[in-house]
Amino acid sequence: MLAEKKLYIATFGCQMNEYDSEKMALVLHESGYDLTPDMELADLILLNTCSIRDKAQQKVYSFLGRLHRLKEQKPELIIGVGGCVAQQEGVRLLKRVPHLDLVFGTHGIYRLPDLITRILVKGERVVDTDFHYSFPPPTTIKATRPRIKATVTIMQGCNNFCTYCIVPYVRGREISRPSRDILKEVTGLASSGVAEVTLLGQNVNSYGVEQPDSPSFPELLKQVDAVPNLLRLRFTTSHPKDLSAELIATYGTLKTLCEHIHLPVQTGSDRILRMMNRNYTIESYLNIIKALRRQFPTLAVTSDVIVGFPTETAADFDNTMALIEEIRFDSLFSFCYSDRPGTKATRLPDKVPFEEAARRLAILQDRQKEITLEKNQALEGGEVEVLVEALSKKSDSMLQGRTRSNKVVNFMGSPDLVGHTAMVKVLEGRPNSLLGRQVE
Ligand code: SF4
Repeated sequence: MLAEKKLYIATFGCQMNEYDSEKMALVLHESGYDLTPDMELADLILLNTCSIRDKAQQKVYSFLGRLHRLKEQKPELIIGVGGCVAQQEGVRLLKRVPHLDLVFGTHGIYRLPDLITRILVKGERVVDTDFHYSFPPPTTIKATRPRIKATVTIMQGCNNFCTYCIVPYVRGREISRPSRDILKEVTGLASSGVAEVTLLGQNVNSYGVEQPDSPSFPELLKQVDAVPNLLRLRFTTSHPKDLSAELIATYGTLKTLCEHIHLPVQTGSDRILRMMNRNYTIESYLNIIKALRRQFPTLAVTSDVIVGFPTETAADFDNTMALIEEIRFDSLFSFCYSDRPGTKATRLPDKVPFEEAARRLAILQDRQKEITLEKNQALEGGEVEVLVEALSKKSDSMLQGRTRSNKVVNFMGSPDLVGHTAMVKVLEGRPNSLLGRQVE
């Protein structure tokens, strides 16, 4: 069907939500909707929401409040809310926002065309937050624009119930997508020019465990590695408790698998890890890092840290700082703990005052900045393979890309290189990137 109507999607939150928004656009393209960057032109506005971050509900309600004027000017406009906040709030959203037409949950993306039809044909206001524990077949819908990188979901949901996290409640239990569908999707992407694919799941290491005839995650990586024309393969996110020796052995042996792992540790304190229900110890985490570095010594390692979890003492925080010194992560995503409604951690006593948590976070981030800079400077003089992703935002004669270890590199070069790899000599390691010069 020809696209005639305009769709605007506002995406909040994580990479999983960006992937879901991409799927929404593809699914609705088949129903005649073309993406627009201009909300005022849209016939359909979807908010893809996230409840991981603080005050998510308030943000959604205030965004919806701003759409009231648009709906008054254009009564035929359809407004929908999807994602985690929709899953949590359900019919409450429709009750509170009279100009809202649709609420759909995290499993509702592939039913969007039917839901929109119900609104258009029957004039209903629709809520669909049921969990459907299955995956639709791989889409054969072509991407609406050429891409260099793409994400492919390999599983949904999470079984881990970390005490600070809402994901298992809003995305349901773990279910793995059939490997043949994943391979079909990756093959289609690679043949259409996508050079890099990231496999997505909340806990990719437990891929396939609930299905006896499924390949394990490392076996899946081997199958994806064999897809013709694929240059680079990444995955996220890995849970330390499920990371196997078999997975460690894939580094350096699969040609497309990039030499980077994101392995969230969250804290350096065993006591806090138990309170978070993470099910590993700092000793076991360190052993994994050692084994990874034995397998591939220059592997880049990044992580997540939550500072100021309830009851965190100065000694717990010192343990986190000691861990950072010992591992020397390439970079860290670090946050102050804050309550997420509906999670167990909200009921824990002895919350760390925000000022103290912020003080600890600043200490941690200052030290990590120094480590990241030192690691980037250590690459000076060496050569790295860069997949060129775009022209630099600062200058048309500069290109921007990433190394296999996921570091951003800027260098002078021809725009024709976008979408291709180039060898680059590192001239300068900077706080958040590398500056380089192309070599023959
Ligand atoms: S592993 Fe923990 S933090 Fe990650 S999605 Fe599952 S419950 Fe949330």
